[in-house]
Amino acid sequence: MPKIYLIDVTNRDGVQTAKLGLSKLEKTMVNIYLDEMGIFQSEFGFPTTRHETNYLQANVELAEMGVIKNLHLEGWIRAIVADVETAFKLVPRLKHLNLSISTSEQMIQGKFQGRKTRDDIINEMTRAVDAAWAHGAETVGVNAEDASRTDLDYLLKFGVTAKEHGASRLRYCDTLGYDNPFTIYETAKALAEEVNIPIELHCHGDLGMAVATSLAGAKGAIDGGQDAYINVTVNGIGERAGNADLVATILAVTKSKGFAEKYKLGGSVDLTKAWKIAKYASYSFDVPIPINQPGVGSNAFAHESGIHADGVLKDPENYELYGFEELGRGEPELVDTGRQISAGEYSGVSGFSHVMGKMEVKFASKEEAQEILELVRYANVQAHKPLVEQELLFIAKYPEVARKLLTLVP
Ligand SMILES: [Zn+2]
Repeated sequence: MPKIYLIDVTNRDGVQTAKLGLSKLEKTMVNIYLDEMGIFQSEFGFPTTRHETNYLQANVELAEMGVIKNLHLEGWIRAIVADVETAFKLVPRLKHLNLSISTSEQMIQGKFQGRKTRDDIINEMTRAVDAAWAHGAETVGVNAEDASRTDLDYLLKFGVTAKEHGASRLRYCDTLGYDNPFTIYETAKALAEEVNIPIELHCHGDLGMAVATSLAGAKGAIDGGQDAYINVTVNGIGERAGNADLVATILAVTKSKGFAEKYKLGGSVDLTKAWKIAKYASYSFDVPIPINQPGVGSNAFAHESGIHADGVLKDPENYELYGFEELGRGEPELVDTGRQISAGEYSGVSGFSHVMGKMEVKFASKEEAQEILELVRYANVQAHKPLVEQELLFIAKYPEVARKLLTLVP
């Protein structure tokens, strides 16, 4: 039976969102947390963008060192040969790529404005896929941007041609969140049956249905005989109204009525890491988690009304579908409350040693402490906020990788 895998796109769709961004160290921590959680793949950034180069190389190195263990690190570029060439020039050891091009009539007319025909789009895509293989890519996904507004016959032709050139997966992008669960089910099933490769579902929340359409699309792909890869972001952060939320999607797949009897997550996803990654993304993006967010919102397990409180005390299952422990809630906060001595861009070695000492990190010499502190200061300049324990530990443990992440040379 085909399965459902998760591809997190926080480090691409999330960071390209208006008014939001992450430092390179923060993006790295997101990858590390996704890996700990057992997520299949992270779309970890933009290989043709110069300020991403050191970050992308450093993360590929972390994977080679075994610090990032199972997570696939995949770069996102346009489906044109020039982008493939640049990507492998800047990040030579890149293994996984997704190539994106618009396929809808709206985009062909409205975006390309007559410069590209439907055939041009397919030709550019296939040349880019061929180039990616020639450069030694291990997997090459092909993205149909605005697929939900693309006429199905053309989309099928696009997918079949991608498959003929060896594409590993076809990403069906509901770029504007236009689909509903009924329409995406039919389309995903048709794509799986006719194109005959695994289908990615990339859904947005403009109509409030990103998780629902993702599930329905996954069901369509599996009913059509193919694995489904749902694109998610941490806390649903993404363009406009956002993407399918990572935690809500896992909950919906595993806990909704009867779904998991037939449609199962592949690999081993550890839901108890949900709390940690959601809190971290909220802190690093500086975007609070809505109180009613599934699983991780502050009200997700709060009961006040008499009937509900009484019911949940008698048996939690009266008013809860899942327990708070399952999400890893209740761990210490990322940032100290009460008295704080934080490590920042103007910290001194004494305060810094105090902070690190609390985490049982001891330095061999004052020089070593000074050197790590220097890196912490730079990280703080980029993040504009006190670093969390895991970030400080990362810098202390992998100072050379941290130095590379923090180096931005225009
Ligand atoms: Zn998107």
